[in-house]
Order: sequence, then structure tokens, then C-alpha cells
Amino acid sequence: MPQPNVDEWRGEVRQWLTATLHPRRAAETTGHTAADLAVFHNLTDEEERQLLDRCRAYQRARHEAGYQALTLPEENGGQGLTAAHAALFAQEESAFDVPPSTELISVTVRLVAMSVSLFGTPEQRETYARAFLRTDLLACQLFSEPGAGSDLAALRTRARRDGEDWVIDGQKVWTSGAQFAEYGLLLARTDPDVVKQAGITAFLVPMDSPGVEIRPIRQMSGGASFNEVFLSGVRVPDGLRIGRPGQGWEVANATLAFERTASGSGNRRKGGTFDDVLALARSLNRTGDPLVRQRLADLYVRSALRAATVDRVARASAAGGRPGPEASLTKLMASDLLTRTGQVAAELMGARISADTGEPGTFAWTEHLLGAPGYRLAGGTDQIQRNLIGERVLKLPGEPRVDKVPFSELSGN
Ligand SMILES: Cc1cc2nc3c(=O)[nH]c(=O)nc-3n(C[C@H](O)[C@H](O)[C@H](O)COP(=O)(O)OP(=O)(O)OC[C@H]3O[C@@H](n4cnc5c(N)ncnc54)[C@H](O)[C@@H]3O)c2cc1C
Repeated sequence: MPQPNVDEWRGEVRQWLTATLHPRRAAETTGHTAADLAVFHNLTDEEERQLLDRCRAYQRARHEAGYQALTLPEENGGQGLTAAHAALFAQEESAFDVPPSTELISVTVRLVAMSVSLFGTPEQRETYARAFLRTDLLACQLFSEPGAGSDLAALRTRARRDGEDWVIDGQKVWTSGAQFAEYGLLLARTDPDVVKQAGITAFLVPMDSPGVEIRPIRQMSGGASFNEVFLSGVRVPDGLRIGRPGQGWEVANATLAFERTASGSGNRRKGGTFDDVLALARSLNRTGDPLVRQRLADLYVRSALRAATVDRVARASAAGGRPGPEASLTKLMASDLLTRTGQVAAELMGARISADTGEPGTFAWTEHLLGAPGYRLAGGTDQIQRNLIGERVLKLPGEPRVDKVPFSELSGN
């Protein structure tokens, strides 16, 4: 299909955004609430549902208008546009008051929908990927387990074939949004007698299946957005297998690369930003202090470098159809920036950051400070991103690997 002219398309996008959303307010830290500065939401179930409804309404409108999954090929349910179109849409959208998204919306639209589009059958694409892209159905990510986080391929949740079904037993953990999801993209071991990466298969599990138990986990920043998920004798029809048996590691890697890209580049507001810190310094009359100026300049340069890297990685991944290992760079830069932003805000405020005096925009920053460490773990820890950059981007020698034997021969299995 011929690509629309970028300048004309920009005009159409701007017109649609103007008709759909309000313009974004300028950053005024003194007015910021904890919700504005929080990295993870601290909401009741009722508030979370209301937020999800707002997000879903916007995602559906975006899908209907033809602005969802811009770079995904048309045959996979996307718009088949270039990275330049996607960058332009993100740029235009950032000037508007987009509903503050949640982890579950991002996991559904930017991870699960993408992987089902790439690995699903035509029927699965039509039934599920499309519904995930429109957020008619929400899907969580059932990957991590108590003994398999960084070393995800060591997962022990088992799926055994039984006639036309698979029967799943095991435990997942840190599952964001599981309590609100209709489906979960799950990785399970289907063959323990091959090396650990080769014996994994991916499934879409209906979260209301008998045998699925979801227990929320309270976070130190206050909310309970992630969960433990227990699976006991859960029956899933073979029609919900995503990819071939044994192809689960490939599905996992693609999903994780989408996750790094979403975490590193998402335009969902996550915590305080450079603009918020600048507004804070202004409100405290500290912008004349040479040390503060130095810290602000450092933060600004890092924000600009991150934005430029996001753009570069987005262009490269759109060209290849899916993100490459370079996505680890943007994930690492995003989590580093979030931590540094909190540090500069804390230095500016001193003890005021931890005293809940009602002074606007001060104590609210604690939600940023307490949430930032979690962001350094979610989607692969900082250390794992560094390993990926070393081995797959810089092509440095790999770490010694002693587990190239059938999974069942590894100790404890
Ligand atoms: C807010 C949040 C949301 C999340 N949401 C989800 C979700 O929706 N679905 C899901 O499946 N998972 C989710 N996770 C889990 C996340 O993917 C894992 O926490 C992460 O992969 C790390 O695994 P782990 O916690 O088991 O830590 P471990 O793997 O036990 O790591 C412990 C420490 O050892 C370090 N380490 C481990 N291996 C190496 C190595 N080879 N080289 C150097 N250092 C190493 C790690 O960097 C870390 O510092 C979420 C986590 C958080 C914090």
C-alpha cells in the first residue's frame, strides 16, 4: 500500500487528536498530586476499573480511527506504516491530555497483541489480537515464577497434553493486572527432556478458568497492581496454543523485546519528568544555584539522549518488523532517568520530601521515589539489560553457560 505523505498525515492526526482529547496542561509541580508523580498507581479496585474504562475508550477510538499498531504489517492487523509515522503520532499525541495508561493496557496492546499477531494463526489474530489491540479484551503476562525471573527459561509451570486440551499446573508471580485481565499469555514447560529453552510452549489462558487463583501483592509504594497466580489442573484447549509446541522461547523473546521497547519509549506518564523537576526548582527559587543548574543540565541532557535513542531504536525495529536487542538500551536509559529524576527532586526538597505537611507537590514525590526501584526490575533488571547489550549489541563474549543439557537433568528438576 502506498504510504501517506508524512506532512498531510500529520494534519489528519492533529485534527483527530484535537477532536478527541484536550490539550495537555503545562507542568506545574506545585499542583502535582501523588497520582501525577507515581510510577505505579496506588488505587482501589474500583478506581482501577474506572481508569481502565477511560483508557479502553481512548484505545478503541484510536483503533477505530486507524492509529493503533501503526508499524505492524497490515496482514498482522496493523496499519503497515513507517517508523516516521509512528514517531510523528507519538510527538503529536504528547501535546494532548491522553488518559494515564496502566501496566495492563500497555501489556495488552504493546506486548500480548503484538506477539499473538506475529505467532498466532489467522483465526487467533482475528479473534484475539484484534480484540487485544482494541482493548475489548485485556491480557496479562504470565511469565515470571518464584524461581524463574532473570533466568526465565528455568520456568517450571508444566503443561501436559490430554486429548484436545492441555492441563497446566504451576505458579506465576509479579503478574501485573492479573485481577482485571480476561486472558494471560502463559509460558509453560511442555518437554522437560530437551535443553530448557527448547521445551517451552506459549498459551493464552482464560483467567476465569477453573483452577486459576489470583492473589494480589501489596507494593511498598502502596498499590497492589501485581499478583501471584496459581494454576492447578487448568484445562486449556489446543486452539489457545500460540505458536508451535516448543516455540515458546521465541514467543517469549519477541514479547520481552516489545516490553523493553514499551518500557523504554512509552509516552504514558511514568513518575516525575525533567519538566516537573525544573518546575520544582523554580517554585523553590533554586534555579540560580550553580550546583542545582548543573544537576538540571545533566538531567536534561540524559532526557534528550533517551528521546534520541528511542527514535533510533524505533526506526530500526520498524524496519525489521520487531524490536532488536537495542531495545535494552532504551529500557536501561528509561529506568536510569527515572531514578536520577527522583534523586534530583529529593536533593532539592531535603526533608520536605518525606514530611506529609500538605504542601503541594512535595510529599507527592515519595510515590516516584518508592516506585522507581520496581521499574529497574520490571521487564528485565538493569543488570540483565547490560548483559543483553554486552552480548547481543556489542557482541562481547557470553557468560559461561553450564545448562546446555536437558532441563530434567539440571539439579532440582
Ligand atoms: C513492577 C513489576 C511488574 C512486573 N510485572 C510482571 C508481569 O506482568 N509479568 C511477569 O511475568 N513478570 C513481571 N515482573 C517480574 C519481572 O520480570 C522480574 O522481577 C524480573 O525479571 C527479575 O526477576 P526476579 O525478580 O526473579 O529477580 P532475580 O532474577 O532473582 O534477580 C535477583 C538479582 O540478581 C541479578 N541477576 C540475576 N541474574 C543475573 C545475571 N545473569 N547477571 C547479572 N545479574 C543477575 C538481577 O539483576 C537482580 O538484581 C514484574 C516485576 C516488577 C518489579
